[in-house]
Amino acid sequence: MTCISNKRTYLSKEQAEEALIEHHIHFDHSEGQGPVNFYPCGLCNGWHFTSKGPVAGILKSGEVKKRITREKLARDWERKLR
Ligand SMILES: [Zn+2]
Repeated sequence: MTCISNKRTYLSKEQAEEALIEHHIHFDHSEGQGPVNFYPCGLCNGWHFTSKGPVAGILKSGEVKKRITREKLARDWERKLR
């Protein structure tokens, strides 16, 4: 599915949420950089990331923060061993 906004479209809130977490695992955004939240799009009925506005609650969750830290470490090791 494509959107005239040219942004990547996620089909559900859950999918956008998961993709946002993975984005923060794979890219080293400093505080307040990169996509911080997602929103429902009125043009395509999907969901898109946004780098503006308040940070998504999911990214502030302790469990999710731990997961991001853990998976970042694992990713760094994979890079070193490659
Ligand atoms: Zn859209």
